[in-house]
Amino acid sequence: MIKALINRLRGRPAQPPAVQRVIIPRDQHHVSRKDISNAALKTLYRLREQGHQGFLVGGGVRDLLLGLHPKDFDVATSATPEQVKQAFGGQCQLIGRRFRLAHVRYGREIIEVATLRAHHSQAENDTHARTSDEGMILRDNVWGSVEEDAERRDFTVNALYYNIEDFSIWDFAGGLKDLQRRELRLIGEPDTRYREDPVRMLRAIRFAAKLDFTIEAGTANPIRRLGDLLDDISSHRLFDEAQKLLSSGHAVRMMDLLHEYDLFRHLFPQGGASEESRRLLTLTAESTDERLAIGKSVNPAFFYAALLWEQVQAEYQHLQDEGVPPVPALQQAGQRVISRQVERTAIPRFMAQTIREIWEMQPRLDHPRPRQVDMLVQQQRFRAAYDFLVLREESGEDTDGFGAWWTRYQDADPGLQAEMLRSLESGGGSGGGAKKPRRRTPRKRKPAGS
Ligand code: ATP
Ligand code: MG
Repeated sequence: MIKALINRLRGRPAQPPAVQRVIIPRDQHHVSRKDISNAALKTLYRLREQGHQGFLVGGGVRDLLLGLHPKDFDVATSATPEQVKQAFGGQCQLIGRRFRLAHVRYGREIIEVATLRAHHSQAENDTHARTSDEGMILRDNVWGSVEEDAERRDFTVNALYYNIEDFSIWDFAGGLKDLQRRELRLIGEPDTRYREDPVRMLRAIRFAAKLDFTIEAGTANPIRRLGDLLDDISSHRLFDEAQKLLSSGHAVRMMDLLHEYDLFRHLFPQGGASEESRRLLTLTAESTDERLAIGKSVNPAFFYAALLWEQVQAEYQHLQDEGVPPVPALQQAGQRVISRQVERTAIPRFMAQTIREIWEMQPRLDHPRPRQVDMLVQQQRFRAAYDFLVLREESGEDTDGFGAWWTRYQDADPGLQAEMLRSLESGGGSGGGAKKPRRRTPRKRKPAGS
């Protein structure tokens, strides 16, 4: 009664939460403390010592239940951000305005600690919560109970709470059943939930690809219709989401799903127009996934280089047709294409620089001057630019066989290298085809589908 009255005074809906708590005791699940990072456990224990509720929630619990290694551990607590700060002192930093939370640092590991939150209506106080006229959540800092917190999470499988008090798991939305069915289901009414935060559409795709889950029909159906809502999301947030999609180790499947749900064009309006460009992108995604699978690092600039390559070439050609010499034409083309992409996904300056360097090395690699060869190999960006050339070649682009030439050159002993350079000098090309004159301007591209 009193709670309902307080809620009404605060402008919050008075209905009880739509979710019901099901408790799975410790002896009926297999989430073990030995699989949880020490930093997350220490955080949870400290919160408990200070008299607060502490839960592991989100991907950590979900992935452990699926037998996967969680990427990180998120903590939810009844303590306010200020109380978390008090409990952890200098180890803790409060961040975010839209979504205020605490970062607790243990060396290089950071545990995100979020205060339990409640849904809010537009009538509420602007300093804690704000919703746009279209229903998009602009600020999300109204504290609440665990039930209320569960209701505002995105998918049922992301609303499982591991309670540090007795190591039980609390399931509010049927998440365990959906984990068994391997299904992603939004909590609540899908249209409303996507309007509140359109990024949930990208998250649906990310989790479906990463977990190899199907997206339940009610959750999947609105996505094609609501894709335009992504156009209102800040370019910084979209960049972050795009990074997560690309570096998940399942980039190939993500791409397919982005196309299937017609979201690709909202993230990358200039990419994947022709079949050739899509082939280059698929090869890039495959090589990204392969590298990650064997524990190698990936350079996100590489993906954008592939994504925008077709546009860069078109601009490059166009500028040269207007009489701009090749070197500045390629520089300008790169700048133009990147500046169009950053309207959708912000690209950090250092990354834009790498993307341009990869592009600008292409004419020097696919038409090398013999005297420059050894200098090119020494360049910092050589490896990425060479990998890119090989993918262009594999995707069917006409590179005069120079991808294979550079592969042979790097493997050759000094004697063979000298011979290859002599052959190049005498106009022998890459040796992969007929003798061709040096080409100073890029070849006109074949029309798509020819
Ligand atoms: P992973 O970290 O493996 O990518 P995750 O599920 O932990 O997956 P996070 O982005 O770390 O994803 O978010 C942690 C949890 O916060 C989610 O599981 C979900 O419960 C909640 N959450 C995150 N973003 C949203 C959102 N946009 N809308 C609703 N709930 C969200
Ligand atoms: Mg997480």
